[in-house]
Parts: sequence; C-alpha cells; structure tokens
Amino acid sequence: MAGPIYMDNHATTSVDPRVLDAMLPYFSERFGNAASRSHAYGWMAEEAVDVAREQIAGLIGGGPRDLVITSGATESINLALKGAARSYRSRGEHIVTVATEHKAVLDSCKALTRDGFRVTYVSPGSDGLVTPDQIAAEVGSDTIIASVMHVNNEIGVVQPIEDIAAAVKRVNESCLVHCDAVQGAGKLPFSVDGSHLDLVSITAHKLYGPKGVGALWVRRRPRIRLIPLIDGGGHERGMRSGTLAVPNIVGFGKACEIAAAEMADEAPRIRAMRGRLLEGIRDGAGGIFVNGCLEHRVPGNLNLSFEGVDGEALLLAVSKGVAVSSGAACSSASREPSYVLRAIGVPDERAHTSIRFGLGRFNTGDQVEEVIELVIGALARLRRGAS
Ligand SMILES: *Cc1c(COP(=O)(O)O)cnc(C)c1O
Repeated sequence: MAGPIYMDNHATTSVDPRVLDAMLPYFSERFGNAASRSHAYGWMAEEAVDVAREQIAGLIGGGPRDLVITSGATESINLALKGAARSYRSRGEHIVTVATEHKAVLDSCKALTRDGFRVTYVSPGSDGLVTPDQIAAEVGSDTIIASVMHVNNEIGVVQPIEDIAAAVKRVNESCLVHCDAVQGAGKLPFSVDGSHLDLVSITAHKLYGPKGVGALWVRRRPRIRLIPLIDGGGHERGMRSGTLAVPNIVGFGKACEIAAAEMADEAPRIRAMRGRLLEGIRDGAGGIFVNGCLEHRVPGNLNLSFEGVDGEALLLAVSKGVAVSSGAACSSASREPSYVLRAIGVPDERAHTSIRFGLGRFNTGDQVEEVIELVIGALARLRRGAS
C-alpha cells in the first residue's frame, strides 16, 4: 500500500517489526493463560508477562510489581483518578488538573464531578506550560489528587512534572500526584524513581507497541489503595481483574526495551527532522505560527498554523500526500477548534488552520523534504486562490 507519508505519530505508531516478532509465538504455541498455575502453558505465559513487567519498569523506573496492566492509557487514567478519588474520599473531595489534559483525564474528572467531587482546571500560559507554583497554589488540605500530563498530545509541550509533583507535596503531603506520561514515555528521559509521583499512566501503541494494552504504575511505598473499576478474578493485585492479554503485554515489554535502548540516538535524529521541517516550510512559505513553546517540546512534535488560508482546504490539499492531524475537530459538524489551542489563547481562525505533524521512528529525511514541498505548494496555491 503506497498511502500518504505517515506523520501522525501522536495518534498512534506502527508496531515495530521487532515487537511483532516477539509477540507472534504468544498467539500460537505459547497461548497459555498467565493465571494457569498447574501446567507449562500457564507458566510460560506468566514468565513472559514477568519479563515484560521488567522491561516496562526498565523504561519508566519503579519495580515490575508496581505495574497494573490495563487495556490502554484511557483505562489507566480512569483507574488512577476514579480509583483514587473513591478510595480517599474521606480525606477530601477536591481534584486539581490542567485545562489542556487529554480527554481521558478531563472526562474522568467530569464523571467525578457528577459524584460530588470538585475539580479545578488550571490554565496554562500562551506557551502551553504550567508552573509548579500555579499548580501548588490550587492545592488545599482537601485536595486528594493533582493530575498533570508530561507531554501534551497536540502541541507537544513538556510540563516540568517532577517540580510540579514536588511543589504539590510541599503544600499537601497526602495529595496524590498522577501523571499522564503517554506522549513522553520512550521519547524523553522520564523516571518515577526519586520523583514525588504516585500514579503514572502509559500505553504501548504510542511507542511502537500494539494497541489495546497499557499500564498504570502505582506507588507501593507508601502504599496506594485504588478502588478497582473492573472486578473479577483478582488479577493485578485486585486492581484490575481479567485474563491478561499476553501477546500484547509481550509486545508492550519489547517496545519499552527498544525505546529505553534507542531513545538517546533516536531523539536527536527526530528533533533534527522536526527542525528541518519547520525551517523548510518557513523558508518556502512564510506566514507561519508555531503553536506552543518550541523549546520545551517533545522531539517529534510540530504544531503549526498558517496565515491566509482556509484550514479545511489546506488539510484537503495535503492529506493525499501526508497523514497529519488538524486542530479543527472535523469529526463533528460544529467544526469546533481544538480545546487545547483555545486554552492557550490561540484565536479561533488560527486554530482552524493548525496542523499537527508527529514525526516518529520510521520517518526519513527524504520524507521530510517531500512533505516540505507538498505543504509549500499547497500554501502557494491556496493563497493565490484566496487573494
Ligand atoms: C493516546 C493518549 C491517551 C489514551 O491512550 P489509549 O491507550 O489510546 O487509551 C491518553 N493520554 C494521552 C496524552 C494520549 O496521547
């Protein structure tokens, strides 16, 4: 299939061939249930899951037994926020988060609001960043959770998550800190070790692993108790029942192992491609805005808006050649601009022309040159037509 060049790696990534190779035996001869204790099929599956836990912990720190395996980050985030809120309600009913969080966080908070919890949404600056003081200022004695993402999925900005966690604990030692680390894991150095984080959500399919598997890291010292969302056979220390998806978990582990080993080489290569993409489009077209802080940004992200064009026409013009995302959610008839861009004060008409480029492991310098030409050509045609 000679489809468009894939530059939408914040939405999902392709499975690394090495990950697929590691997974395949667990669909066939090694098909056992990891909870079967009485035969070799079960032992083999359990051992593979244990190896994967070590590999995941090798990427984000902590111990392999601290991880609760889930169906993905949406579930991890729901378990972290709802599980903790319901478990620690006697301490207070207040939650602090940020207006630019992923919908999994915002909608979990909204659901908790219906149960009587109060939520404060902190607004980032026009660069997309929040400061530790901004978060800490909202934390009170009745705040039970603060939830702040590491890397934003639209504009790629990197929050100072360790300083934020430390600042929260200085105000209220018993306030739990959750981090949606989906977009940073495997792309930037990140570790729960030595941090003040309590709960961390990650997912495999954003780091070249399979879809449908993720993890919640749960601090064990001091122990955190979560009320499970899914009851059943008591898997995952009672926090998430259900038969483990062994092939997916094996792939998740392998993806984490590769990311940990290759991040130091991969990040500068991708950052250089991002730099070239920006420079090429800027030199060839002009009238370009970078949405969000460029300096504190994950290497593969470039979120641009374009002067003097219609957003929909631009996306249509480039979408045959390159797979990217738009800041205007075209899924609904309303054509609402992205709430993330809105929250950082990007005017609606600029948000409507925004394009999110997400560069990843399998992009090449030649593809970047092709996309530069494509975007420059489309802008020139549309601007000529508009004037
Ligand atoms: C993709 C994503 C999620 C959701 O992860 P799933 O595994 O697809 O449920 C959560 N947060 C961020 C920042 C994401 O980019």
